[in-house]
Amino acid sequence: MLDALNRKHQLKVVYVSEIKFQKEVRLVSRQDEFAKEVRQNIQNGAKSHFHLRNGLVWYKQNRLYVPEGKMRDIILKECHDGPLAGHGGAKHTITFLKKSYYWPNLKNNVEEYVKTCLVCQQNQTLNNKQASLLQPLPILEGSWESVSMDFMVSLPPSRGFNAIMVVVDRFNKMAHFIPIEDEATAQKMGRLFFTHVFKHHGFPKANLEKVHKRYKDFVDKSQ
Ligand SMILES: [Zn+2]
Repeated sequence: MLDALNRKHQLKVVYVSEIKFQKEVRLVSRQDEFAKEVRQNIQNGAKSHFHLRNGLVWYKQNRLYVPEGKMRDIILKECHDGPLAGHGGAKHTITFLKKSYYWPNLKNNVEEYVKTCLVCQQNQTLNNKQASLLQPLPILEGSWESVSMDFMVSLPPSRGFNAIMVVVDRFNKMAHFIPIEDEATAQKMGRLFFTHVFKHHGFPKANLEKVHKRYKDFVDKSQ
């Protein structure tokens, strides 16, 4: 029911704007050289693909002639950027446009418009980005060769600490829970890592800079 009402409303809006649009086309066409020539030819009785109806120039059956200038830009935008068009390619836009409108050089104008459309260019860039292959985690051969780190932040303060750095060995899942502060720097975390992990298990293949960035992201998100 709601859909039917929306549709009715939409049709009404389209209908009203169509009348307004045709009024504008009629007005602009009076000064348009091509429209003037077509009218002249028809009045002279020349055989033509055009005819006049409601003071407008029509091509073949139902294609409205759009005079040169901003009216063509409006139509181009509607038939390419509009919700029903959704930035289709040039071919799609031409087909859509040719159902209702006509002007000489229409095809070239559409191609040029689509080529310079920013939204289409951005989509093109996204589509061209190649997905890289998944890199599986290396197979581990021993304990504390590779560790994962996580942080629990914004905890109630206890003995000057309000966060916990969790270091887990990926091989045997053993974990160290190291108390730290929200404000801990990379150097501080490095020192803690040395005291709590390295001293007991040796140095894993870890990148502390990356770890610190991840920790800061956690803290920022939790605030
Ligand atoms: Zn586009």
